[in-house]
Amino acid sequence: MAGIVHLIGAGPGAPDLLTLRALRAIEAADVVVYDRLVCPEILDFAPSRAPRIDVGKATGDHPVPQARINDLLVRLAQRYDNVVRLKGGDPLVFGRGGEEAAHLAAAGVAFSIVPGVTAAQGAAATLGLPLTLRGTATSLRYVTGHRQNNGALDLDWAGLSDPSTTLAIYMGLANMREIAVALIAHGRDPATPVVAVSQATTPQQRCAFGVLSDISDIAASEGLTAPVLFIVGEAVERIPVRGEAAFIAEICDGAPA
Ligand code: SAH
Repeated sequence: MAGIVHLIGAGPGAPDLLTLRALRAIEAADVVVYDRLVCPEILDFAPSRAPRIDVGKATGDHPVPQARINDLLVRLAQRYDNVVRLKGGDPLVFGRGGEEAAHLAAAGVAFSIVPGVTAAQGAAATLGLPLTLRGTATSLRYVTGHRQNNGALDLDWAGLSDPSTTLAIYMGLANMREIAVALIAHGRDPATPVVAVSQATTPQQRCAFGVLSDISDIAASEGLTAPVLFIVGEAVERIPVRGEAAFIAEICDGAPA
């Protein structure tokens, strides 16, 4: 009998943002397969006897191709009862969890999916930033800022330029200038507030505020390092403490402005 593969969202960073279901599955793991964005403290919840397999990927540099990961999960399930596949954030938000689940299903391997706190939710909570706001921000879109196979950024620019939509832009650090230019060209106000949050929910969290027309320069001059999430929209203006620069700097960087 083959084992089961648990596709688990490890959350954005802080280990105490794991769900109880995730924690229980990790504690019962016979083997753990994990991504780059999963923090070491979370791996420590697995039994020490459980082998840890790092299949982490950096953008543009894929040490373990997705097809190999898919096959690895099937082979591990043939040997172990409880295979834990840990992914940053939520496995179904830009996490290729759907592809892994489909591959397991096709191979006849049982699986479960455990949701995780996605980066946008984690970042918004630490900043007290509403992602939706009655009458102002009536929808929220998760957007990838990453080009597939180095092709063009082919996004629904007209839809994303709707002023009542909050954008949570994942994997956008390298292309944020191009994204901002395209949004402005499609009618989004250049003065739309934006926050860039690096390593959200971890002790290394940093953030930088700007507007659509200057946020890529600001993120670069602040030296924000991956992973970085951009949140774009009028709701960013509603952070309760925004404007108190010293306080913001203190909570984001641990240093006064
Ligand atoms: N499945 C993940 C997303 C993986 S894509 C999730 O649900 O969060 C990787 C991108 O997620 C990064 O480029 C970055 O944009 C974002 N990200 C993940 N963790 C983050 C964090 N702690 N802080 C800021 N951005 C993060």
